[in-house]
Amino acid sequence: DHHLSAIEKLDGEINSYIVTTPEKAREAAQAADAKLAKGEGGALCGIPLGIKDLFCTDGVQTTAASNILRQFVPPYESTVTHNLLRDDAVFLGKTNLDEFAMGSTNMTSAFGAVTNPWQRDGSSTKLVPGGSSGGSAAAVAAGLALGATGTDTGGSIRQPAAFCGIAGVKPTYGRCSRFGTIAFASSLDQAGPMARNLEDCAILLGSMAGFDPKDSTCVDRPVPRYEDALNRGVKGMRVGIPKEYRPDNLPAEIAALWDQGIAWLREAGAEPVETSLPHTKYGLPTYYIVALAEASSNLARYDGVRFGERVPADSLDALYEATRHAGFGEEVRRRILMGTYVLSSGYYDAYYLRAQKVRTLIQRDFLNAFENVDVILTPTAPSAAFAHNERPTDPVQVYLNDVFTVPASMAGVPALSLPAGLDHAGLPLGLQLIGRYFDEETLFAAGHVME
Ligand code: GLN
Repeated sequence: DHHLSAIEKLDGEINSYIVTTPEKAREAAQAADAKLAKGEGGALCGIPLGIKDLFCTDGVQTTAASNILRQFVPPYESTVTHNLLRDDAVFLGKTNLDEFAMGSTNMTSAFGAVTNPWQRDGSSTKLVPGGSSGGSAAAVAAGLALGATGTDTGGSIRQPAAFCGIAGVKPTYGRCSRFGTIAFASSLDQAGPMARNLEDCAILLGSMAGFDPKDSTCVDRPVPRYEDALNRGVKGMRVGIPKEYRPDNLPAEIAALWDQGIAWLREAGAEPVETSLPHTKYGLPTYYIVALAEASSNLARYDGVRFGERVPADSLDALYEATRHAGFGEEVRRRILMGTYVLSSGYYDAYYLRAQKVRTLIQRDFLNAFENVDVILTPTAPSAAFAHNERPTDPVQVYLNDVFTVPASMAGVPALSLPAGLDHAGLPLGLQLIGRYFDEETLFAAGHVME
């Protein structure tokens, strides 16, 4: 009830939820109470969560923040949300995002922009929450959910977590099932938790993760009790500081926060060492080829025939065209066009195939680095949250915000963002930890030292 009334009071302005489900939430809360009374509650019994509106929820509209899915009510539950319900979580509603998770600002949602609950000291300018999981991040930061689900294809959990002063974890690719999560770029998409601290993220991840035969890329490995790793400490841990993440134009206060993080880890007994990820500069350009190619293929299913919106027309081609024109926003259309281009004959070899080869080099960078270090520390994003109207009109400028988050996505290694400090205007900044495949536990241990 507290959360539902907080949403009622505050979300008109923040717009973090696309839809709330108060009746279902109250029913689930009552069921949770009954279980608790009998001592039978699961790990998340009664915990109110926001669910990114990219996860299919049985009987509850699932829009991907797109007009093309405005009326879509899935007849099934995604595996991740199914797992959370199994552990007796309570869903408050579906949170806002960039359309089809394409973006870093939450400005591309067909359901309106999200406002970051943080503001610059002494200013009333509205700031973006980051994206694409900006609704989830804003809801958690504003106290409109205790935790939330996010998805991260190139930074969509970590960057909004950093912008909103919360924690977020992108697990290893294959750790959480993608079944029932609306696809953006299938070889990169990964679900993960967002919450106020790493302990909450650890508990949520333990519930979300696990093998699922319905996703052939989901890995069959036991799910550890992540929260047990939090207090392991970092004595003797080797922390890599990649020199390629310190470009000349890195804002001084972000460099200073990074140094602070290094100092915290050193004081706790870790050993910071310089490391190198030489192909870092190719991360962004190759990401925006691979992700868009996969998106153009995944989004071909929204044709107005089988599900979603349909704009009737005289011929099949005209129906496709009218439906897709009305259904997709500008950024999604741009990405479908670019993705189709890099896959087309004549350009496939020059762009797509080459990007896949470079992706292997990026992956090898991490494997080589992890021969010598246990974890890598970097800033999460090159800036704090910016204003709604500061959004550059050049899409490439927006893409540059992902420079620190996409390499881990391209390699499939786990990474998290934790709130680490404030900038000169009082806005939150995040630090990112990147780890070995399936070694989320080391990330939790190292991250907890800096909380
Ligand atoms: N900002 C990146 C993009 O626009 C990442 C999005 C994501 O991780 N879903 O593609």
